[in-house]
Amino acid sequence: MIVMKFGGSSVESAAAIERVAGIVKAREPRHPVVVVSAMGKTTNKLLAIAQTAISGKREDYIRQLHDLRDFHSREARQVVPLAERSQLDRTLDDHFQELTELVKGLAVLGELTPRSIDAISSYGERLSSYIVTLAFRHFGMNAVHVDSRDVVVTDRRHTQAAPLLPQTYARLAEHVRPLAAESVVVMGGFIGATEDGVTSTLGRGGSDFTASIVGAGIDAEEIQIWTDVDGMLTADPTILAGGHRVKCISFDEAAELAYFGAKVLHPATVLPAISKNIPVLILNSRRPDVEGTRIVSRTVHCGNAVKSIACKRNIALVNVHSTRMLMAHGFLHRIFEVFDRYETSVDMVATSEVSVSLTIDNPARLEEILADLGQFAEAGIETRQAIVCLVGENIRYTPGVARRVFDALDGINIRMISQGGSLLNISFVVAEADLAKSVAALHQEFFAELDPEVFEKHEAVHV
Ligand code: ADP
Ligand code: ASP
Ligand code: MG
Repeated sequence: MIVMKFGGSSVESAAAIERVAGIVKAREPRHPVVVVSAMGKTTNKLLAIAQTAISGKREDYIRQLHDLRDFHSREARQVVPLAERSQLDRTLDDHFQELTELVKGLAVLGELTPRSIDAISSYGERLSSYIVTLAFRHFGMNAVHVDSRDVVVTDRRHTQAAPLLPQTYARLAEHVRPLAAESVVVMGGFIGATEDGVTSTLGRGGSDFTASIVGAGIDAEEIQIWTDVDGMLTADPTILAGGHRVKCISFDEAAELAYFGAKVLHPATVLPAISKNIPVLILNSRRPDVEGTRIVSRTVHCGNAVKSIACKRNIALVNVHSTRMLMAHGFLHRIFEVFDRYETSVDMVATSEVSVSLTIDNPARLEEILADLGQFAEAGIETRQAIVCLVGENIRYTPGVARRVFDALDGINIRMISQGGSLLNISFVVAEADLAKSVAALHQEFFAELDPEVFEKHEAVHV
């Protein structure tokens, strides 16, 4: 059995869904369980509808809902057999009627709660999984739909819910595994339900996480993440074009890259896979013959010190300074207590005797945090910063990596630097305006020579 997850762009249109059907059909003998994201940018659109509703713009949200229904109906009709069209229309009607009621309710209340955000954003995966199931039947597969909310059980932290793994694994083993033995199971990613049946979601990008949970729950032999790039690349392609494909990478390296911004993988994805030692593959649904990236439990020997460079934009750098605290204990404790109080996680920390710098990527509670810090220290903030993170298990064994970083970034102001406790990354903060230049310089420094066992060189296309 294998799990195959297709992201939003892999199911964004009738043509894309047809491509997916071909990819899955070719692997039918391996008993795939298919996990799909919402079609294209549907999740963003649903969240936008919710915002329009609470700002009271009735005509606007009604039009947005119509457009979204039209989009789903137009694409779906092309991949659903004639005989099933009336059922398709009925199901779309039911879903959009329910969604419209929900949105109208929000408009009356004028307020969004995490729970109502989940209720609304769940429609993307509910619709896509249903449409993909019908499409698979159209292309000759014996496909069955499973509502993920019946199997993925989560806690109540809406919009960021964590799966309750024992219950979820039990349901997957009991319901999904036997079904997958005889049919192609299709499920929506990202969504689940609390123990009392309230719809929840695993956080943005969470369909990768669903795929991994499902893989662990059915004891899959492999988890495939199908997306719109050839695999994990040596640099984020939205920042630097021409990165090379990493053929093989360890779970630890992949987790570190995901955590520091490589959006190609949701940061929690590798955890369930590690627990059952299931390899994870990243593959391109537009170029299914490319080998992709294989994420494995063992260390991947490599001639290069660095495997890939990840970046996180939109970072705020918080500087906390207190001379009163000189030689006093408990300073760090008090600082972290404040971040904990406002449920804001800290990515990087650097300390000296009297000052501490830290980075956060979620500024939602920043004002309250600064006010509380201000009670015992001077606290300042710099926004529009970026974290750049070099990841590779060899970093710990290779002398001179920091020197090469500083040399490559000559002339760029490095605001903060840290080598993580895991010793497989070096991260630093630069102004967002310097990000592209920094990544290009580092890429040149660390990937001019490539270990051919680990990297597939990106061949420049000359026109
Ligand atoms: P999906 O909808 O399939 O889940 P995502 O947009 O979430 O796809 O993730 C794929 C995107 O991740 C790529 O299009 C790319 O822009 C981005 N990305 C960031 N860092 C990397 C990296 N190191 N390697 C590959 N892709 C990356
Ligand atoms: N559709 C969800 C999102 O856009 C989950 C996912 O695609 O992984 O965040
Ligand atoms: Mg994604």
